[in-house]
Amino acid sequence: MSDYAVRLERLQGAMRALGASLAVFAPSNQMRYLTGWAEEGYERLVALFVPAQGEPAFLVPAINAQHAEANPAGIRRVLGWHDAQGWQEEVKALLAEWGLAGREARVLIDDELHSGHLLRLQARFPGLRCTPAGDAMARLREIKTGDELAALDAAAALIDAIYEEALGALTEGMTESELQDFIFAAFKRHNTTPSFTPMVCFGENGAMPHHATGATTLKRGDIVVLDIGCTWEGYCSDITRTFAFGEPRDLDAARVYEIVSQAHWAAREAAKPGVSGAAVDAAARRIITEAGYGAQFIHRTGHGIGLSDHEDPYIVAGNTVPLQPGMCFSIEPGIYLPGRFGVRIENIVTMTPDGVRSLNAEAPRQLPIINA
Ligand code: ZN
Ligand code: ZN
Repeated sequence: MSDYAVRLERLQGAMRALGASLAVFAPSNQMRYLTGWAEEGYERLVALFVPAQGEPAFLVPAINAQHAEANPAGIRRVLGWHDAQGWQEEVKALLAEWGLAGREARVLIDDELHSGHLLRLQARFPGLRCTPAGDAMARLREIKTGDELAALDAAAALIDAIYEEALGALTEGMTESELQDFIFAAFKRHNTTPSFTPMVCFGENGAMPHHATGATTLKRGDIVVLDIGCTWEGYCSDITRTFAFGEPRDLDAARVYEIVSQAHWAAREAAKPGVSGAAVDAAARRIITEAGYGAQFIHRTGHGIGLSDHEDPYIVAGNTVPLQPGMCFSIEPGIYLPGRFGVRIENIVTMTPDGVRSLNAEAPRQLPIINA
């Protein structure tokens, strides 16, 4: 049985347990996980219909039927709809075939299905009781298989190498965008694609965790934050490294870096099978709070990673779900001092029976100084 057949069967089992008669997926990482078909989608409806029992069906624009037929999961049923007729009649026929026509039925909906498609589906078939598929899919996706782990390991090794290349490209006076262009070119050279837009933050821009890379130039004494990731066979990597370009201008930078490093390691040590994401977050937060920077740690400690760069499990207050072997997630505490600098240290780890293993090379425990 292929991985995809196992995944579809597990999904159908979960649907029956939830009392859901049908699940509808959009071109998303949910669909890719279930079928291997990596389709970006557009304004026309592209969907995978999975009944709780029986064979799934793709419903796609007729012009995309050949792509759908080549799906790696080997799903044979591909219905093509034509622009002049629309897709509603095809859906009606599927619902009738699965005994869902004109009655109430619980339906799991891909969280990334266009709201326009969902609203039309609900208006035409008012018996459908739609709820998000995200939670059910998260339970399937959050434990990685050996093949998935191998791809995540390869993506991690690749981004570590690209980070080292980026360090070699630093020159005084270059802009953030120029360094970002270098990183894009490195992705191309290594035959990979970004898992998100590479983030380059020079100086005080590092104090914004989601800074938009721009025209700021690199000056000696700047603290630099790089947050970059790439893919391998669809699986994502994601690291953040912080360093000084020359002797740091801000005299607190070395101390703040050490606090973040200690918080990073405290989270790594707290993460064991059976421990919750909330407890791991608390372990990092305690170190930063005790050092007086609690109010400057303005985001969760981490997120799961796989086909999506952010997925379950989330390492965040309130997440009481126990971590289990096979899960992969980031540990990325940070401290952000507006107008001055920021520090974040991020590795991807995987849970093993004895605790976590880092997929990435380790960041230095003291603030690295590049081009001293
Ligand atoms: Zn991350
Ligand atoms: Zn990141």
